[in-house]
Amino acid sequence: MTTAPASLIADLTDRELDRFAASHPRSGELREAAEGALLSGVPMNWMTRWPGAWPVVFDTAAGARLTDVDGNAYVDFCLGDTGAMAGHSPAPTVAAAAARMERGITTMLPSEDAGPLGEEMTRRFGLRHWQFSLTATDANRFAIRLCREITGRSKILVFDHCYHGSVDETFAELDADGHVVAQLGNVGPPVPLEETTRVVQFNDVEALESELGKGDVACVLAEPALTNVGIVLAEDGFHAKMRELTRAAGTLLIIDETHTLCCGPGGYTRAEGLEPDLMTIGKAIAGGVPVGAYGMTDEVAEGVLAKTVWEAADVGGVGGTLAGNALSLAAARATLAEVLTEAAFERMIGLGERFAAGCDEVIAEFELPWQATRLGCRVEYMFLPTPPKNGGEAAAAFDTPLDALLHLYMLNRGILMTPFHMMALMSPATTEADVDAHTAALREFAAELTA
Ligand code: PMP
Repeated sequence: MTTAPASLIADLTDRELDRFAASHPRSGELREAAEGALLSGVPMNWMTRWPGAWPVVFDTAAGARLTDVDGNAYVDFCLGDTGAMAGHSPAPTVAAAAARMERGITTMLPSEDAGPLGEEMTRRFGLRHWQFSLTATDANRFAIRLCREITGRSKILVFDHCYHGSVDETFAELDADGHVVAQLGNVGPPVPLEETTRVVQFNDVEALESELGKGDVACVLAEPALTNVGIVLAEDGFHAKMRELTRAAGTLLIIDETHTLCCGPGGYTRAEGLEPDLMTIGKAIAGGVPVGAYGMTDEVAEGVLAKTVWEAADVGGVGGTLAGNALSLAAARATLAEVLTEAAFERMIGLGERFAAGCDEVIAEFELPWQATRLGCRVEYMFLPTPPKNGGEAAAAFDTPLDALLHLYMLNRGILMTPFHMMALMSPATTEADVDAHTAALREFAAELTA
C-alpha cells in the first residue's frame, strides 16, 4: 500500500542514491576491485540487495554499532539478521573463542564445553537431547531427515511464506489457486515442491487439519511466529491446536527458534510453554561464531537411536566434519552464560517496546496506513493498516519501491535496518538513544512522504 505518489518515491530515491554515492566512495571502489574475483563483486550475491548503488563495506562492528570503510557510523538494528543479536563481538564470547582458538579449533572429538552447553540448552528450552551443527539451516535439514526416518513418512508441512534457511523442501508456497508451487527464485530444486511439501497458511487450523489428515506428513516445521515475511503472530489458541492436531496425526512438530529467540532466554517455546518434539536454532547463540543446534524429546531420541546405523553414522546425511567443533561450542557456552542472559533479555525487550512505541507515534502523527508489530526484542513495521493474519496477507502488503527507499533513507542517516523488510532487533548493547535516533529518522521520512 503506497502512501505517496510513485513520482515522489522515485524523486526521493534519486536524491538519496546521490547522497549515498557521495558518502560511500571507498565502498564503491572496493566493490569494483572485487568484481574481478567474486561473483557480482561480493562474497554472497544477496549482499547486492542492500540499499544503495553498491553494498556498504564495513570496517568494524562493535556492540550495536558499525563503521564502514568510508568512516560512516551506524546504529545497527539488523545485527546480521539475528546472527549478532548478542551484539557485535561481545567480550565474553571473544575471550572464550580466543582462548579456545589457541588450544585447538576442530578435532572431531568432543571438548569440555559440550556437556555443560547441552545442559544449558535443556535448562532454557526444555528439550533433553541436543546435537550441534554449523548453521540453523543444517539443524533444520537434520531435524527433517530424522523425522522422516522415525515416522517412515515422506512429506513435510510448512507455512506459506516461511523461511527456514536453504532447505530444499521448505521453498514451497501456495499459488492463487491454493496449489503448492516453488517460491520465487528457488534455485535448482531437485524435484517439484509438491512432491515433498504440504503448505498451509499460518493460523489456518482447518487447512492444517485437512493436510495432516492425509497421513503422509512426517513433521511440521514452523516458526512459532513468522518473522521472514514481516512478523505474523500466532492467534490465540493456534499453537495448542497445532500441537493437538500433530499429535493426533502422528506427525512430529519441529519449532524453529532461530529468530524467535528474541522472545526471551528460552525463546518463544519457553515464553509460551510450547511442547515441540524437536527444536532448531542457530545464528545468535554463539555470538556470531557459526553454530546450529537441534534438541529433541526422550521419545524422539529413542526413535533416533533405534534407527541409527552406527557404522555409517558419519555419512548418513546428518553430520558434517566441522559440526560440534570446539570453537563453536566454546563461543555458544560463553554467549549463553554471560551475554544473552535473563537480565539482558529484560532490557532488550524493554527497548523493543520503546522502538514499537516510537513507530506507533509516527504512524499516528502522519496518519500512515501502516502498523508496527513487536515480538520480544524484535519489531517490524509493515505497509498495511492492521497486522497480517498469515504469510499470504503479509506478502501482499510488500511495496518494493517504498521499502527500498526507506532502507536507503535510514542508511543515509546512520541507521541499518534488516534488508528486504523493515525489521529491527535490539541487542544487549543497544541504547535508548539508539532507539530514539530511529524514531527521529522515521519521523523525518514520514514528513517528507506526506508533505
Ligand atoms: N530458520 C529461520 C527462522 C531463519 O530465519 C533462518 C535464516 N534467516 C534460518 C533458519 C537459517 O539460518 P542460517 O542461514 O544461519 O542457516
